[in-house]
Amino acid sequence: MKKLTLAMLLSACALPSTQALAWGQEGHRVTGYIAQQLLSPQAKAVVNQLIPNADFAQLALYMDQHKQELKQQLPGSDKWHYNDEPVCNGVEEDDCPNGNCASNQIERYSKVLADKSAGKAARAQALTFLIHMIGDIHQPLHAADNHDRGGNDVRVRLAGSSKVSNLHSVWDTALVQQALNGANEQSWAAQDLKYYARNIPGWQSGKAMDWINESNQYARSEVYGPLSNFSCGQAPSDVAYLDRTYQTAGAQLIKQQLAKAGARIAMVINQALQ
Ligand SMILES: [Zn+2]
Repeated sequence: MKKLTLAMLLSACALPSTQALAWGQEGHRVTGYIAQQLLSPQAKAVVNQLIPNADFAQLALYMDQHKQELKQQLPGSDKWHYNDEPVCNGVEEDDCPNGNCASNQIERYSKVLADKSAGKAARAQALTFLIHMIGDIHQPLHAADNHDRGGNDVRVRLAGSSKVSNLHSVWDTALVQQALNGANEQSWAAQDLKYYARNIPGWQSGKAMDWINESNQYARSEVYGPLSNFSCGQAPSDVAYLDRTYQTAGAQLIKQQLAKAGARIAMVINQALQ
């Protein structure tokens, strides 16, 4: 199996991206900025040995930007961005086929990052993957499925737009952009960090599966729950209308989830590198 080298990881930082990506790029960058601010001095020093001048906001994009080549090098890795947890009780889902899901891989790569005998490139890769995957699972639709490909098959229209989009992309990108409201991601992240400063220590506990369960609850209450045409176990055939109230609540939840994700990325890295 071809291994990712440090050079490949670093070159990723210079690559522009053209496609729409999960937690679009804005969301991932924000989590990266927040996480990097919350690193312990010890973790910062080790990170700097693994990836000199690491920019978490850029590293956060790597798994999306290189999804196809990663899939060839690490079969199944295209499924490491989410857990398919049902949004209705009694509906069956295989949430981690062959271990290929976010929760499993977060546990796995946390150990690689912590392993001082693992090679530098392997640990740099683990760091890069963790920044992305922990970010992803805080997007409620990366922790929820209704036999609709995580909301990709649910057609929606936002109030104020004539375009038909899908539920997944609304939560990955459109609502993130509403939360950011045109602000620069780095300064927005700094504000978000300040806004939630008191909450952060409380958020820095538990592990991946706890955070997935929490996201799944949000998917039930905030993402699917308010849809007028929601039905358990299948995507509705008609287009759901997302009014302003839905969007405002969604953007507020995203503001919080991005801060939580950043806080927990830092927690996992600080623990692994202590
Ligand atoms: Zn992703």
